[in-house]
Amino acid sequence: MSEEKRGLAISPGFAVGNVLLINQAKMAVEKRKIKKNEIINEINRFQKAVEISKSEISSLKINQDYGYKIEHIEILDFNILILEDEILAGEVISTIETKLINAEWALNNVLTNKSKEFSKVRDQYMRERLADFYYIAERIMKNLRGTSEPLADIKGNIILVAHDLSPIDALKYSKNNKVRGILTDLGGTTSHTAIIARSMGLPTIMSLRDISIRLNPGQKIYVDGYKGIATWKVTKSEKGEMENLKNRYVSLEESLLSFSKLSGETKDKKVISIRANIELTSELKVAKKYGAEGIGMYRTEFLFTRKEQFPSVEEQYLDYLNLFEDNLFNETTIRTLDTGGDKSGNLNHQENNPALGLRGIRYSLANKEIFISQINAILKVAQDKKKTIRILLPMISTIDEIIESIGIIDNLKKSFTLEKNVPIGVVVETPSAAMLIPEICNYVDFLSIGTNDLIQYTLAADRTNENLGEIFSPFQPSVIRMLKFIMDSVSNQKYVSVCGEMANNIACLPVFIGLDVNELSMNYHSIPKIKSVIHDLSYQDCKSALDNCLKITQPDKIRKLLTSVINDNIVGAKPIMEYEI
Ligand code: PEP
Ligand code: MG
Repeated sequence: MSEEKRGLAISPGFAVGNVLLINQAKMAVEKRKIKKNEIINEINRFQKAVEISKSEISSLKINQDYGYKIEHIEILDFNILILEDEILAGEVISTIETKLINAEWALNNVLTNKSKEFSKVRDQYMRERLADFYYIAERIMKNLRGTSEPLADIKGNIILVAHDLSPIDALKYSKNNKVRGILTDLGGTTSHTAIIARSMGLPTIMSLRDISIRLNPGQKIYVDGYKGIATWKVTKSEKGEMENLKNRYVSLEESLLSFSKLSGETKDKKVISIRANIELTSELKVAKKYGAEGIGMYRTEFLFTRKEQFPSVEEQYLDYLNLFEDNLFNETTIRTLDTGGDKSGNLNHQENNPALGLRGIRYSLANKEIFISQINAILKVAQDKKKTIRILLPMISTIDEIIESIGIIDNLKKSFTLEKNVPIGVVVETPSAAMLIPEICNYVDFLSIGTNDLIQYTLAADRTNENLGEIFSPFQPSVIRMLKFIMDSVSNQKYVSVCGEMANNIACLPVFIGLDVNELSMNYHSIPKIKSVIHDLSYQDCKSALDNCLKITQPDKIRKLLTSVINDNIVGAKPIMEYEI
């Protein structure tokens, strides 16, 4: 009998491959049988790695630069205690001796057993201690393996499995064409790693809790990114069922793609522009194929964090030039660096509360040379290509930020000969910006509603925290009312786009159509499905659904109401209903 585990369906698709375990130290767990005369060597390697880990943690403790607080010190002390604990070390050593396997594999085995023990424990605190074991094991693993690169060692297609995966790592690994899917213990739907996975078209399941310690390296696993189910230990007789499922999904994808040619127009001729969010310029061609009518947001963080150094003006210029290669799109929107929050990169600052810290425009204005280099590169492309580039400023929370940013941009413009206007817009993603919409409209050319952060900051709910369930939900009445408030406050007929993940949630379409937004921008993969659903809806129905939502105070009731509007109208994309809502 196979085993399966359900998590959050993050990125649709069906994939099969061999497990590559990734830890935060970016290492794979190596699996190797050893000879009896190698036992001593393996034990020595393990003990040396434990000693190095211990001194690393001790030096973290005394390094005042980190500004550790008492609770941090306590955690570090607890980690050292685990390292000194004979139970962990003893078990690993006896596993090496009895199973004749290498130290990495033995450590992984011990951890798998610990996870089973912990999962039976009711006490939440004790269960959480598993995480401490995990991080310690990661550190030992890193010191065992040195810095070798794991991907090259693995044969066949790969499913990345990690406790947690940073957006940068997700991007780095997924660029290898052997990687077919991602599974993680942690992570929520709108985390940046989730966004990367969707943009790379990799079937992904997150919030699988302990998948990273239940699987063995190299094991074959099936990833159903539509339903959020990972299946392994598949028997010969079950293999056929898996193949059938895969074929069903392939034909579903093909039929969805046929909607890419539609325009975003309702039955009663209300038109919404449907554009793509991209994280890499290499997504442009496929975005066009899926029916993108333009680029609604190019997230530039990954351009900035790809290497150790920030890119020069010239490097940025060459990257932005790609946006107009092959004349795929005449207009594009570049969002300036939105670093911080869960998008860690090569920024040399640590913050206690990064989501509320020097993020987005705050970082750019505090590091003007970086902002100036980005604007110069954008303006040079606008000048040389004679195309329209919209500049989008993220994480705006005050009018002063807008005035200062526009001042810098206007000043830099003087050095260029621009045939086309360079529209400037802001991402509306803080409640503060929402409260200032009439004034913001006096300064900018367009708005783009960033629902991921807008939900996060409206509900004070961490977008990366998978334990918050319905609290972080687009169906929260406060979110729907916030959107209505924003749209009611828009003046001077400003163009409004929506660039958060809500834009690709089919149940949210009646809200956006009813609110008269001009554009929805989303991962390219969702475009055909969204176009098809819009095609089946009517503006009038959407308006009255929105009015009804505004009277409701519970998210599950709002979800139900909107789902029923979709269910009652959907024709073309009906097969996707099984797993979409
Ligand atoms: C958003 O917050 O909705 C958004 C589009 O930006 P990001 O997800 O990159 O923070
Ligand atoms: Mg945002």
